[in-house]
Amino acid sequence: MTAPATELFATAPNGVAWKRGPGGTSSAPEFLAALATLTDSGGRIAREWNWWQDGRRQEEEGRVMAVIGQWDHATPPPGGYMTAQQLEARLDAGHAERESQRQARAAGYDKNLAMARLRLLSAQATTGFMRHVLAKPASAAQQAKAQEFLAASEQEAAALAAQTGGPDAVTDERGGLPPARRERHLDEHMTFFRHRLLREWSSGQQHRFRQLLAMPAPQPVDMCSECQAPADWHTYALSLRLWPGTPEPGSTAAKIAALMPGWWDRCPACTGYQIRHQWGGTGALPDFDADQWRAMLKPVLRAVFAPAPPAPPKQPDRRAALEMRLRAAEAEAGRLRR
Ligand SMILES: [Zn+2]
Repeated sequence: MTAPATELFATAPNGVAWKRGPGGTSSAPEFLAALATLTDSGGRIAREWNWWQDGRRQEEEGRVMAVIGQWDHATPPPGGYMTAQQLEARLDAGHAERESQRQARAAGYDKNLAMARLRLLSAQATTGFMRHVLAKPASAAQQAKAQEFLAASEQEAAALAAQTGGPDAVTDERGGLPPARRERHLDEHMTFFRHRLLREWSSGQQHRFRQLLAMPAPQPVDMCSECQAPADWHTYALSLRLWPGTPEPGSTAAKIAALMPGWWDRCPACTGYQIRHQWGGTGALPDFDADQWRAMLKPVLRAVFAPAPPAPPKQPDRRAALEMRLRAAEAEAGRLRR
C-alpha cells in the first residue's frame, strides 16, 4: 500500500480556498498564476499582443485550463453553489440592465452633436498633421501655409470642443459610447490587423515584420473610436477601417469613391488633409508630396504603410472641385445617418 499523496491547498486573493485533485501535478503558485490569467480580462491585450502565430492563443489557453482543471474548491462557498437557473437569471438581469441603459442613451441620440464630435476628432488630427509638417517644412511657402492651417484647425477644434462638452459621453444612434468602441477596436486591431500581418510577413518581409513586432500595445484610450487605428495614426493621414464595406452602387458616395481613391476608406475621425491635397488649390500645402509624407511617418508606420504612398495630387478644375466638396460633405452626412 502506498501512502496517500500529500494534499495541496492554495488560497486565491479573494479568500477562496482551493485543493488540488488526485493526479494533479501543478504547484500552488502555478495554479494561482493560471487563476490570475483566467480572471484578468483587463490584461488580455498586453498578454496576447505578440501571440501572432497560428494556434498560439489556443495553445496558451489550453495550458491555463489544464492547470485549472487539476484543482477544485477546498470547501463549497458560503451559501453553496448557484444552480444553473440561478446563474442564468443573474446573467440575464445584468444583460437587461445594460440593454435598458443603452436604449435610454439611444433615445437621447443627437445627430448634430455626434457629427460635431467627429469634426472635432478630425480637426484634432489635422492639428497633429500640420505639426508633423512644421517639424520639417519643405519651403518657406509651405511653412507659412501649414501655420495658417494649424491655427485654423486649432480654432475649429476649440469651438467644437466647447460645443460637444465631454466627447466621450456623446452617444451613437444605437446608444453606444466611444470608450466601449475603443476597447473593441483595440481587440480587432490586434487580432485582425497585427496578428494577421505578422503571420503574413514572418516569412520574407523581415524588416516590416520586425518593425510591427516592436510596436508596443496601445492602451484602449489611445485608440480611435471610429476605426481600428490608434488615434495618433490619423495625424499622419492613415486610417484603418478593417470592414469598410462598399458604397451603395450608383450612390453619390460610390461616384466620389471612384473619383477619389482612399476617400471611402478614410475614417471620419482622420485628418481630411489628403482629400484637400487631392483637390489642390488653396486647400493644399505648396511643395507637399508623397516623399515628404513618407519622411514624416514614424518608422513603424513607414514600414507598414509606406510601400503604398497616396496617389500624386491631381489638379481638378475649380468648379468641379467645389461641387465635389459639397457632395462629399453630403455623403459623409449620409454615412453618419445610416
Ligand atoms: Zn479612426
